[in-house]
Amino acid sequence: MIEICNITKSYGEFKVFDGLSLEVEEHQVVCLIGPSGCGKSTLLRCMNGLETIQDGEIRIHGDRMSGPGVDVNALRRDVGIVFQSYNLFPHMSVLENVTLAPVKVLHESRASAEEKAMRLLKRIGLEHKAREYPDRLSGGQQQRVAIVRALAMGPMVLLLDEITSALDPELVSEVLNIVRDLAAEGMTMLLATHEMGFAREVASKVCFLYGGKVHEEGPPSQMFSEPKEERTRAFLQRII
Ligand code: ATP
Ligand code: MG
Repeated sequence: MIEICNITKSYGEFKVFDGLSLEVEEHQVVCLIGPSGCGKSTLLRCMNGLETIQDGEIRIHGDRMSGPGVDVNALRRDVGIVFQSYNLFPHMSVLENVTLAPVKVLHESRASAEEKAMRLLKRIGLEHKAREYPDRLSGGQQQRVAIVRALAMGPMVLLLDEITSALDPELVSEVLNIVRDLAAEGMTMLLATHEMGFAREVASKVCFLYGGKVHEEGPPSQMFSEPKEERTRAFLQRII
């Protein structure tokens, strides 16, 4: 479904990706792991058109999603992204946050966007917070709203960048539960995560990014128990 082929990306002199390739099948949950600075966030941002690549290609369902002439707005409709710092619009209520893009970008009627938003909020147990402003919500609640905001666009793929790392430990599980549910429903997701236990549980595939490439990839059972590459082993030993 998603093909990342031999991409190159530099920030000035610094090469983040040097011929990185990665494939994601429909309904797969792919976890990106690797040391800080290896490019997990950059990869997700490239997939969403927030960063450009210098060489190679990113394709979704065979359509080229990178390079000149790509409709970035169409890309962002199909590829939802949620960041570590939830980035809700502070001056808008929860409901307004969730309905903004469906109304403005997809031209849905306000009534139908609100109905859908309420349905999604209900699913995450936050329909009673629809009229609240983000600063009246806990971090975990804000992050759940951020996920719902991305889902309201009906994306084909959801990219999640360290979505629990800004949360207090007791709030982490409520956010991971949503991801777990989405995975069970077959949502295609790519997530950059430091939550190895969670990666082990939900991932269809784990990719270790190192040296500007996917250094090693495999099912979680293999990656976490018997990684083939020395670098992967050293990384996992340090953090688990
Ligand atoms: P972390 O685990 O800390 O989140 P990461 O794997 O997500 O790290 P990235 O944020 O993708 O890493 O960064 C990859 C590399 O690119 C880093 O060395 C970083 O310093 C560099 N980098 C990222 N964004 C920029 C930018 N806008 N300009 C210059 N360099 C950048
Ligand atoms: Mg990052």
